[in-house]
Amino acid sequence: MKRRDNAEGLTILKLGGSVVTEKGALLTPNMPAIRRLAREVSDAGVSPLILVHGGGGFGHPLAERYGIKDGFREPQQLIGFSKTHEAMVSLNRFVVEALVEEGVPAFGMPPSSFTVTRGGRVASIHDEPLRMALSLGLVPVLYGDVTLDLERGFTVLSGDQIAALLAVRFEAKRIIMGVDVDGLYTEDPKINPSARLIRHLTLKDLEEVWGGIRGSSSTDVTGGMMGKILELIPPIKHGAKALIVNALKPGNVYSALKGELVGTEITKE
Ligand code: ADP
Repeated sequence: MKRRDNAEGLTILKLGGSVVTEKGALLTPNMPAIRRLAREVSDAGVSPLILVHGGGGFGHPLAERYGIKDGFREPQQLIGFSKTHEAMVSLNRFVVEALVEEGVPAFGMPPSSFTVTRGGRVASIHDEPLRMALSLGLVPVLYGDVTLDLERGFTVLSGDQIAALLAVRFEAKRIIMGVDVDGLYTEDPKINPSARLIRHLTLKDLEEVWGGIRGSSSTDVTGGMMGKILELIPPIKHGAKALIVNALKPGNVYSALKGELVGTEITKE
C-alpha cells in the first residue's frame, strides 16, 4: 500500500454486511467483493483510516436465533452469544487477511473487547489501543459485534453505530458507508424501482425527505438504511462529510476514498 497521509484527517469506511457477505446465505463471505475492496483500499492509500464491516449472513442469523439483541433471559442464550461473536471473528479474519495480502497494515479489533453498552448504545469505550494503532499508521478493522450491556446483560452493537461513534470521537472528516444500493433514494429502491437517487443533501434536506426513508427489506437486527441515516446525523453535525456508496460496484469505494463524489453525499450545510 502506498501511504498517502490525508491532510483532511481521519476517514472511516464502513462496508455493509450486504457487501462483504452473501446475504441470504449462512456464513458465506463474498470473497470476490472482499478481495476487490481490499485492492481498492490499498490503491487509494488513505491514512489515517478506520475500517468497519457489518455482519450480514455471519452475525445476524445467529444473533436473531438466540435473541442476542434483546439481552439475557436464559442461560441457553450464552452459547448463542459465543457463536455470534465467533462468526464475526471469522468474517473479520477474511477481511483482514485480504487487506494484508494487498499490503494494507490491517489490524482486526473486536469492539466487544473495548466497549460496553447500556440499552444497546455505547456507554463507555476504551479507545487508547485504537488511538495508538492509528497514530502508528495501522488500519484498525472493526465490526458489528456482540457487547456486554449494563442493562441487558448483552446485546448487539451494530457496525453503523460504532463507525458513527468513532467518527464523532476522533473528529473524522469523512465517513463512507458502502452498501448494496447506489446511495440514498427517496424510497427503498428494492421495493420501488422508480425511487429517485438523491445525490446531495444537507441535514435540513434530510428532515424533508424523512418520510421516504424506510427500514431495510432484508432481515437485519440492527436496522437498514433508516438506522444508518440516524447514526450518521451526529458525525455530520460534528462536521464530517458522509457518503453512501454502492460498494458492490467496482471502483466506487476507490473513488470515494480519493475524494470523488459518488453515491449520496450528506453534509451539515
Ligand atoms: P448493510 O447491511 O449493507 O449495512 P442494510 O441492508 O442495513 O445495509 O441497509 C441498506 C438497505 O436499505 C438497502 O439495500 C435498501 O434495500 C434499504 N433501503 C431502505 N430504504 C432505502 C432508501 N430510502 N434508500 C436506499 N436504500 C434503502
